[in-house]
Amino acid sequence: MSKKRLLIVGGVAGGASCATRARRLSEDSEIIIFERGPYVSFANCGLPYYIGNVITKEEKLLVASPKLFKERFNIDVRTNSNVLLIDRKKKEIEVEDLKNGKVYRKKYDTLVISPGSAPIKPKLEGIELPGIFILRTIPDMHQIINWIKAGKIKNAAVVGGGFIGLEMTENLKRLGINVTIIEMQKHVMPVIDPEMAAFIHGHLYSHKISIHLGSAVSGFNEEKDGTISIMLESGISISADMVILAIGIRPEVELARKAGLSIGNYKGILVDDQMQTSDKSIWAVGDAVEVKDFITGSQTLVPLAGPANRQGRIAADVILRGSSNSPRFRGVQATSVCGVLGMTIASTGATEKLLRRIDRYHELEQYEKIYLHPDHHAGYYPDAKTITIKLIFSTKDGRILGAQAIGKTGVEKRIDVIAMAIQQKGTVFDLEEAELCYAPQYGSAKDPVNMAGMIAANVLRGYSSVAHWENLAKSDPYILDVRDPIEFSKGHVENAVNIPLNSLRCRMSELPRDREIWIYCFVGQRSYYAERILFQNGYKVRNISGGFLLYRAVKKVKGNTMNQ
Ligand SMILES: Cc1cc2nc3c(=O)[nH]c(=O)nc-3n(C[C@H](O)[C@H](O)[C@H](O)COP(=O)(O)OP(=O)(O)OC[C@H]3O[C@@H](n4cnc5c(N)ncnc54)[C@H](O)[C@@H]3O)c2cc1C
Repeated sequence: MSKKRLLIVGGVAGGASCATRARRLSEDSEIIIFERGPYVSFANCGLPYYIGNVITKEEKLLVASPKLFKERFNIDVRTNSNVLLIDRKKKEIEVEDLKNGKVYRKKYDTLVISPGSAPIKPKLEGIELPGIFILRTIPDMHQIINWIKAGKIKNAAVVGGGFIGLEMTENLKRLGINVTIIEMQKHVMPVIDPEMAAFIHGHLYSHKISIHLGSAVSGFNEEKDGTISIMLESGISISADMVILAIGIRPEVELARKAGLSIGNYKGILVDDQMQTSDKSIWAVGDAVEVKDFITGSQTLVPLAGPANRQGRIAADVILRGSSNSPRFRGVQATSVCGVLGMTIASTGATEKLLRRIDRYHELEQYEKIYLHPDHHAGYYPDAKTITIKLIFSTKDGRILGAQAIGKTGVEKRIDVIAMAIQQKGTVFDLEEAELCYAPQYGSAKDPVNMAGMIAANVLRGYSSVAHWENLAKSDPYILDVRDPIEFSKGHVENAVNIPLNSLRCRMSELPRDREIWIYCFVGQRSYYAERILFQNGYKVRNISGGFLLYRAVKKVKGNTMNQ
């Protein structure tokens, strides 16, 4: 080889961004992408929306064609080319041309693998029945569309209530199909905490989506009328005309494993912070690699397009500019967003579930959490919508550990700001002081991000003591509801005593001095005012974070939808 040759396996998010960055850094290298599928650089994130007719032109899904790669970047793209093995000794890969079955070898100076992750398809009875689909590629998408077009599809079951499951739910619903979600865990969106997911459940019910939680699928049966019965371990059977399997993915590491590259405990390819594998000539990026969790420092898998793109770029830099001139991957925060039927769910950093699971944090890093329900823009401006935010932070120094938000609009903007603060190792005091855009139609002079910081800072400075609904039963406090009597009459917590905030100064003698008083209102603001009054009068008080709105969502007391 005269020119340095860079071979890339996998031509979508990580592979394509690595290839084009490499070309921008080096006009001299020979760059070849091998892609097993018929398309390169396609928008897999857009597939559910083509099925739902939101994206109406298929060519819009094709971000770049092999022709464009050749003409604009002088990159040779070989589609329908399955890389069978990596011969590390000879620095060669073996490729099968899937169009004619021909197998050939190609030498490399450096190799980048970005093979992605494959949908999990457990060996369950009937899983290969026609009408059961996964969604990863454009051909998968065509199969789903053809099935919908060919039959009169009335009912669909979506197995798995994560990102792809919820996006498919929305798009099938858009086509007029009834959807049932089946989720093995106790709540949909397993990447967020259960009490936050309770809001999604309420929203899905309000759109007439059926949800079966806490039971795994045990098998599938084809019925005489052509429908599919989905059997659950709980004994329930659900009938549908089609099934979307979206129960998770696993990194595609076979190629790496066969080549003897190091594989981690989470079954992803092990790389350093410049994406180099255990072989000095091979880099790996994207869904297939294990990465460091930015918050906890532990290994993890985060299959998202953003990290894959950034990692591809870093690998190209290191290969062509050298390690010391190149950036390092900072780790993942799992910043993500998902929309379902008008509701947006976004999160960044650690969830409480994760922190509880990780001993290191449980022992060393004490955390606190607060909930708030601000409007997405000034309340006096028309159409203000509630955002429910959960902020988790270290009680030692106020460092932000994670945030989750749910609402109809303005949700991802707040999570993006907090994500950046986390990456800068920011604290709740930084959120308190963040200077953000404001005009009535966009936000508030105290933006929800500022509010989250202010509430958390109040806790750390000792101006407010928070309590949480999940501790109510074991703490047995005196419960004070400071909402107006009309709100109280429509629903309240058992044993709560109602003294409206505006009467509190005159009636505080009714309250016990020898018992802790936990105060709540609808969202947590009036109860904070009440907390300050009572605290300054010598009472032992706590503000129940998240207020009745959170309580109601979790307890499923009356329709738990938002913005009512
Ligand atoms: C339906 C869907 C919706 C999604 N939505 C979002 C979203 O909204 N936001 C988000 O952040 N992420 C989303 N993702 C995830 C995101 O697409 C992935 O995280 C990202 O594409 C990973 O990039 P990658 O390069 O690692 O793998 P991929 O983009 O999957 O590319 C890997 C490619 O490698 C090829 N390949 C594998 N093995 C070989 C081999 N041996 N030889 C040749 N080629 C091979 C595969 O055919 C594949 O095309 C979505 C994914 C799907 C499927």
